[in-house]
Amino acid sequence: MRVLVTWEIHQESLDILKKRFKVDYKPGISKKELVSIVKSYDVLVIRTYTPVDKIVLDAGKRLKYIVSCSVGLDNIDIDECDKKGISVINAPGSNANAVAEHTVLLMLSSLRNISLATKKINKGDWNKKELIGKEIQKKIIGLFGFGKIGRLVAEKLSGFGVKLIAYDPYPPQIDVFKGLNVEKVDKEGIISKSDIISVHVPLTKETRYMFNSEMFSKMKKGVIIINTSRGGVINEKDLEKSLVSGKIYSIGLDVFENEPLQKESFLLKNKKSNITPHIAALTQESFRNMCVMSVNNFLERVDIKLS
Ligand code: NAD
Repeated sequence: MRVLVTWEIHQESLDILKKRFKVDYKPGISKKELVSIVKSYDVLVIRTYTPVDKIVLDAGKRLKYIVSCSVGLDNIDIDECDKKGISVINAPGSNANAVAEHTVLLMLSSLRNISLATKKINKGDWNKKELIGKEIQKKIIGLFGFGKIGRLVAEKLSGFGVKLIAYDPYPPQIDVFKGLNVEKVDKEGIISKSDIISVHVPLTKETRYMFNSEMFSKMKKGVIIINTSRGGVINEKDLEKSLVSGKIYSIGLDVFENEPLQKESFLLKNKKSNITPHIAALTQESFRNMCVMSVNNFLERVDIKLS
């Protein structure tokens, strides 16, 4: 089989591929070039930056596999792949640890006003009046969505002396909660009891704008909101109002309704805003995991087919 790699992948995964196949490595190839040469390949190895739409798939007459070194598959026309019998392979969960660690980072940053502190020290301002933070110890932390990342966050927080509660209407097993010393609560419970709410749900019709003025109004005064899931889950206009009113103490966000953030966004100006540019999953380790896991998943699939 002939393999075309369209974006930079980890060397280890490239070496694995080269041991078995003839590989053409063309990181950053333009769509135009891709469409013109894809007919010669059986396998496309991509990352999320390569759109694999109907045009690419129609041109790829020999394609049998799309190997995406990623977790999300938003850039691939999955329905068209299904119609054409092309298998799509990725690496679910390979960046979950990176996101969970980043969630804890945003939590601590939001408790201790790290963003404001950095801005101040950069200006030579040592006035600490606005920098009196809060401790995480003894706080009630609500994990909204208790899948892979929510559970990893629970694991990581277990040494901080916090009380963990979680809400998930579709959890796998009840003992997932017990095993991690997390109390299972309903939606009202997580909203009203949490000192910090950390969001770990997918963006769906049900979850879009789920965090809005109505929900914020039912939260404790001084609650902290953390979101490393998807921006559309939170209504940012409503978030701004609750932050400015003091209902929300501070926020830690990695994802936004519109990315990249507009220069005018309140999130860049508010003193209680601790934000990062959608980098929760970006670590050297997760890059390696994503690439090696996807390629190994692909080889497994090929070997099963051959046997
Ligand atoms: P997962 O599928 O393992 O877990 C999601 C959980 O949310 C599931 O247990 C599901 O039952 C629950 N859920 C669904 N609808 C819900 C609702 N209405 N209320 C409460 N819970 C609900 O996914 P995951 O790997 O834990 O990822 C969680 C989120 O993190 C996803 O949105 C994913 O896109 C995002 N993510 C972000 C980054 C980043 O770079 N910031 C990287 C990876 C994943």
